[in-house]
Amino acid sequence: AKVLASAHEDRAARAARLAGNVAAVEVTGLRKAYGPTVVLDGIDLTVRAGEVVALLGPSGSGKSTLLRCINRLESWEDGSIKVGGCSLNVTDEGHALAPRAIAQMRASVGVGMVFQQFNLFGHLTAKENIAGPLRWVQGLSRMEADRRARELLERVGLSHRADALPRHLSGGQLQRVAIARAVAPNPSVLLLDEPTSALDPELVGEVLEVIRRLAVEDGLAMVISTHQLRFAGEVADRIVFLSGGSIIEDGPAEQVLTAPRHPLTARFLNKME
Ligand code: ADP
Ligand code: MG
Repeated sequence: AKVLASAHEDRAARAARLAGNVAAVEVTGLRKAYGPTVVLDGIDLTVRAGEVVALLGPSGSGKSTLLRCINRLESWEDGSIKVGGCSLNVTDEGHALAPRAIAQMRASVGVGMVFQQFNLFGHLTAKENIAGPLRWVQGLSRMEADRRARELLERVGLSHRADALPRHLSGGQLQRVAIARAVAPNPSVLLLDEPTSALDPELVGEVLEVIRRLAVEDGLAMVISTHQLRFAGEVADRIVFLSGGSIIEDGPAEQVLTAPRHPLTARFLNKME
């Protein structure tokens, strides 16, 4: 009981400290529709620097769309998104921007993203998947980019696979390379969209461990959509629950998991156990 109490205090102290941090992500009144279908219906969400937010909710509730909007992979109808104080809705013609310009905008506001399906370049080695974008987008020299790529491969436990092509890596290894690539430019915010749901169950643990370490060691803000409740309870500071494009619950991870306020959250959690 003593250990639990002190772990609890740590959490409370951490929550208090994070509450004083600047906003890393500020979503206000976000509304997004595909044709007549409203997919995000007035989302307000602030994520503080260093805060880890788990995004839960049934399939189709809008988790991926929200993450994609934050990373400006989608445009939206109404509302605003700021990352690191920078407004991301620089132009409503976002899709007309050259991919390189969008990448540069993302780099300058500091957002990285990890997808369910890894999205590595299939013809490039693990190291080059990380080093390439550091040269093309961040303008690093070959030597600097290689050094940074090696350092990150070591952090995700893949030094020995630096020269392997994606088709020779396991799903867990692919996702660890993708995470290394996403954090390589030192983003202030990392978005992860169901990073373990395409993996065989025995490979989930190694990826969650890498994410957990980044959250603890790097202090970068994370928004992670996941179905891993135990992981969310251990790593997330806050849990945000989406249903039908609205946030129906937003609170400290423990509280949402053990004493959800909304009946839909309770039902969802029960089904997941
Ligand atoms: P989640 O990630 O929570 O499963 P999504 O954000 O993927 O939810 O989807 C939310 C809703 O938006 C769903 O009803 C989905 O069918 C719809 N949707 C997602 N992407 C598109 C798209 N490109 N065109 C039309 N509808 C879409
Ligand atoms: Mg999704």
